[in-house]
Amino acid sequence: MLLARADGRRVPARATVYRTLKLLRSAGLADAVNLDDGATRFERAADRPHHDHLRCTACGSLVEFVDERIERLQQAIVRKHGFIPTGHRMEIFGLCPRCARRRRAGTGKGRSS
Ligand SMILES: [Zn+2]
Ligand SMILES: [Zn+2]
Repeated sequence: MLLARADGRRVPARATVYRTLKLLRSAGLADAVNLDDGATRFERAADRPHHDHLRCTACGSLVEFVDERIERLQQAIVRKHGFIPTGHRMEIFGLCPRCARRRRAGTGKGRSS
């Protein structure tokens, strides 16, 4: 979608840019990374080797990893379903070691779930 401006030039709307990035992301061409402040930065996947994420839900820290077994398993699943993959994004949410320690030591309420 293009917005027609008064001077007749057409500029892409900001929402369009985000939609395009979303499409790129779903195609595996860009990874969206949510920053601590809630802003979203887009990494261009083409510039970097593929990686998956561990995200700490307490401090927002992000660990990048690649495990060939996971990648291969995903390929196998995709093939089994006759699916043509264009990319994937995996994020595991949880607590980083530091936050897990802090939580255990913290309030002493000892939630063990
Ligand atoms: Zn992966
Ligand atoms: Zn953390």
